Amino acid sequence: MSEAQQPQEDLFTIIGNLFRGMRVTWRQMFLPRVTTEYPKTMREKPQRFHGRHVLNRYPDGMEKCIGCQLCAGVCPAQCIYVRGKDNDPANPMSPGERYGYVYEINLLRCIFCGLCVEACPTEAITMTSLFEMSVTNREDAIYTKKELLVEPDGTPNHMFPDDELADLDELRAADGWMRATAPQGRAAFQGVPGWTPSAGVGLRPPEAGQGNTVAPDPEDEEGDE
Ligand code: SF4
Ligand code: SF4
Repeated sequence: MSEAQQPQEDLFTIIGNLFRGMRVTWRQMFLPRVTTEYPKTMREKPQRFHGRHVLNRYPDGMEKCIGCQLCAGVCPAQCIYVRGKDNDPANPMSPGERYGYVYEINLLRCIFCGLCVEACPTEAITMTSLFEMSVTNREDAIYTKKELLVEPDGTPNHMFPDDELADLDELRAADGWMRATAPQGRAAFQGVPGWTPSAGVGLRPPEAGQGNTVAPDPEDEEGDE
């Protein structure tokens, strides 16, 4: 190869590589966009999205929490603090003997695993679709009963009442696990609500999209009895 040909071939290589690189860019330009103009446009959340917690009430306004501390016991991050108290028979807060007198979650420690929801015997604690929980100091990240407990009519409390972006519907959307089909893992219970109604939302329907893909084995069902 002569010395005059060398720079010319280098130039062709550079132009060829340039076009190869641009091909990726051009191809992406014509594909549907996966990003949205957050926060103006929010992407739809999966039905089992694990966002901020709420403490629920029964439709009559009674608190569902009975202060049993099972949620605190199961929490792997040890970020729940509950203190139960005996109900005043003349003015009970919950239908049981006790209620959650103090309830706190340190959301800086929470890993949003949902085990507290799973452990709760009364569906008192559920997780919502709200993930916007920015705070400017650590104390504000400790949600107390004031922020967690819904109003007697079921309206959830937003941390920032003046925030125009507050989406209370996201705080009403309970995560899907409690509405998942087959409580106790049995297909016979598929689509059968195994939970109590809540103030503001009534009886939450079973989780969508849990159709039977495999017919239950009758022998397995008998063995479960
Ligand atoms: S979601 Fe998990 S880490 Fe967070 S409070 Fe519940 S049990 Fe604890
Ligand atoms: S939220 Fe549920 S598990 Fe936790 S203390 Fe209340 S009733 Fe018990």
